[in-house]
Amino acid sequence: MSNTPRTPRPISNHWEWQLHSACRYEDADIFYAPDYVRGKPKVLQERRAKSICRGCPVRQDCLEHALTYHEPYGVWGGLNESERWELINQRRLLRVSVVPQQRAV
Ligand code: SF4
Repeated sequence: MSNTPRTPRPISNHWEWQLHSACRYEDADIFYAPDYVRGKPKVLQERRAKSICRGCPVRQDCLEHALTYHEPYGVWGGLNESERWELINQRRLLRVSVVPQQRAV
C-alpha cells in the first residue's frame, strides 16, 4: 500500500535554476580544467567559461549554490575556485565584524 501523504515534497527548487543556465548545452569540460592544465592555458579556458557565465540568467543562483556547497572545482557563477574561496572568506570576515556590533545594540 502506498504511503504517498508521507512522501517528502519535491525539492526541485534547489536545482531548477539549472534548467535555465547558459551552459546547459555546453561541453562541461569548458568549465572544468583538468589538473594538468595550469598557468596561461588554464586562464584561457576559464576565460571562455566565464564569457558564457557573463550572459547567464541564473548566474547569481549558480554562484550561491557553489558558495553554499563549497564546490571545489571549476567555474561556477563566473568565478573559479580560488575566486570563490576569496568571496567565502570575505563573507566570513564580514559576518565576524558585523556580529559584535549587533550584540552591542
Ligand atoms: S553561471 Fe556559468 S556555470 Fe553557472 S549556470 Fe550559468 S553559465 Fe553555467
